Amino acid sequence: MILMNVSLLKENISLESKGLISRNQITADIKANDNLGIRFTVNNSEPVLANVSSISSTQRNTVISNGTNTICLTEHFMAAAALINLNNIDINLNDEELPFGDGSSKLWIDLFKEKGLITPEKLESKFELKEEIKIVDPEKPHRYIIAKPSSENFKATYQMNWDHPKIGEQSFSWQLGKNGIEDITDARTFSTEMENQMLGLSGWIVGITENDFTMPLRFTDEPSRHKVLDLIGDLYLSGINPLLIKMEVTSNQAGHHLNSLLATEIKKQLA
Ligand SMILES: [Zn+2]
Repeated sequence: MILMNVSLLKENISLESKGLISRNQITADIKANDNLGIRFTVNNSEPVLANVSSISSTQRNTVISNGTNTICLTEHFMAAAALINLNNIDINLNDEELPFGDGSSKLWIDLFKEKGLITPEKLESKFELKEEIKIVDPEKPHRYIIAKPSSENFKATYQMNWDHPKIGEQSFSWQLGKNGIEDITDARTFSTEMENQMLGLSGWIVGITENDFTMPLRFTDEPSRHKVLDLIGDLYLSGINPLLIKMEVTSNQAGHHLNSLLATEIKKQLA
């Protein structure tokens, strides 16, 4: 008998933290399933498969739906799951969004650490990308994302160019085996402070003012590190952990939409 894709999860785990959209306490109960991939439920209703086929919106965050239930803000959880190679789990939520924490993947990584799910076992990329994929935003062609076949472990680079004295041109590369997961899991999302004030999020989400940030940054290049985190989370919606694919992904100012199109193409090549 061959045991395939046994979930890393041996016991049920749960986490409670405030949701960004509802501002309610969101409870996430996670348990292993029988080789069914990553699935979300709301109050134990019909599952929504964490897959590009379920994506219903990529505006600001990556939303998946089965027509009845919608799950918002999947990307930071999916990134944390990819980084520890967690698969075949059911996540039951009490509302239609993931707990938000501080806007990074830290809350999930802290939980996984506490439960002993982060093992010293070395993860290596093993699947081959057959051919290069390039996705360009037709309206803003400076926004693009390229995945190239590689002989090395998975590598992702995000290139950012913002007309802001504390951001400007910056890029960050993360490679499996070379970087630690905390290099990206602690990197928080950010938003303009004007928008934070409008939405009542000041003091919770890192705000960008005209010349600065509203909170001290954890890394000088925290914004581009966070974009790498989003990219990894979105690519996991291909159904295959992107870290297991020998490819070099370069994103130039791309967001959730282009990420999701790349995940679709990766799924086509590897499914
Ligand atoms: Zn994000």
